[in-house]
Amino acid sequence: MDSNSVKSLLALQEIDTKIQEISEKIKFLPKSIETLHKEKESASIHFEQLNKKLKELDFIKKEKELNIQDLNSRISNVEKALEKVRTNDEYKNLLREKARAEESILELEDEILSIMEEMEQLKKTIQIKEKEKEKELTRIDEKIRKLENEERELSLTLSELQKEREELVKLLKPQEYSQYENIKKRVKTKPIAIVQDATCTGCYMIIPPKVFSELLKTEKMLSCPNCGRYLYYDNK
Ligand SMILES: [Zn+2]
Repeated sequence: MDSNSVKSLLALQEIDTKIQEISEKIKFLPKSIETLHKEKESASIHFEQLNKKLKELDFIKKEKELNIQDLNSRISNVEKALEKVRTNDEYKNLLREKARAEESILELEDEILSIMEEMEQLKKTIQIKEKEKEKELTRIDEKIRKLENEERELSLTLSELQKEREELVKLLKPQEYSQYENIKKRVKTKPIAIVQDATCTGCYMIIPPKVFSELLKTEKMLSCPNCGRYLYYDNK
């Protein structure tokens, strides 16, 4: 192996490291974006629940108002009946019925009043929450946009690196490249280990003196007898 091949292999390893880093980052981006979309949804759902509660209160209020209408027409019926009353008992019963209806109306009016107070309170809360929700949605949208941009940029960089890699692979002898790939598949990390203090930085085993002295003499790439990685010793 000549020194050009060594340089190309080192450059290939550098590109592969970058490709792996970028691929890792890209892999997690869609999930992060999805999480943000869910955050948006739950912010809206919480807000809609308040509006739903307001509608429910309004419905209950209208029902009570209808009840009052019914009671009022019952009272006017009683009043009409009172004009035609014949017996004392009948008269007493009608008066009692009228009094009961009037009492019910008072109760209903009280209830309506407290519902209206609750609705006012809720409307104020909704106003505040709506502003908060808008802010929150804008904040999340910005985050989403940022991540989507990042995704686009990383994809571009990735395809550039892949083109660069293809060109680089053309410079290598097929056997060198396939050996590089085989080591990569096996060690799952960098196939070329830098030698430091006569140690392979891939597996942290001391290189046998015979192999090490050969490393010092040659520009060739030798393999680590322990892990099989290409050994690179910068003896310049
Ligand atoms: Zn090793």
